[in-house]
Amino acid sequence: MELACLDLEGVLVPEIWIAFAEKTGIDELRATTRDIPDYNVLMRQRLGILDQHNLKIQDIQEVIATLSPLPGAREFLDWLRERFQVIILSDTFYEFSQPLMRQLGWPTLFCHRLIVDEQGRVVDYKLRQEDPKRMSVKALHSLTYRVIAAGDSYNDTTMLGEADAGILIHAPQNVIDEFPQFRSVPDLEALKSAFIEASDRDLTL
Ligand SMILES: [Mg+2]
Repeated sequence: MELACLDLEGVLVPEIWIAFAEKTGIDELRATTRDIPDYNVLMRQRLGILDQHNLKIQDIQEVIATLSPLPGAREFLDWLRERFQVIILSDTFYEFSQPLMRQLGWPTLFCHRLIVDEQGRVVDYKLRQEDPKRMSVKALHSLTYRVIAAGDSYNDTTMLGEADAGILIHAPQNVIDEFPQFRSVPDLEALKSAFIEASDRDLTL
């Protein structure tokens, strides 16, 4: 049995925090792990900024609902789901990704959770586990699935390494150069072909 694991942000949808920063005009929310390597420090800063601007989860979801998946993403995902069981492995939060997942037809998503109080204030967050993408592939292997995975960035590389076939898509050049063991494709059309080639079944476009 074969299964496809896909990263979300940068593959099917834009980087959610950056797109959210652009929509709201709150520049400080543009910071990513490239600016603040400690993820917990970064998340504390983000939650503090949401508070300063008095943004409740409902406001945040309303803004995110105005974002769209990347061009061709819904069509690609539908194509993939006709050929594979698909699980999206993401470092986003369910509450954040919800408006975009709706536009993608609610595919299965493994990610993290925001802690929201009764007033809708985001008070904390809960990461599912350490190295969650790789651990998910490992768990799927224990269920005897063969896994083909695709992602765009550093936080995907342990998942790609654990998978039976790992593919980079939309990856920045530094990631492509650092991980030459993974095939790299430029767009979702090329990713279809890469999945077909990586499959041990006789699939067609
Ligand atoms: Mg990504």
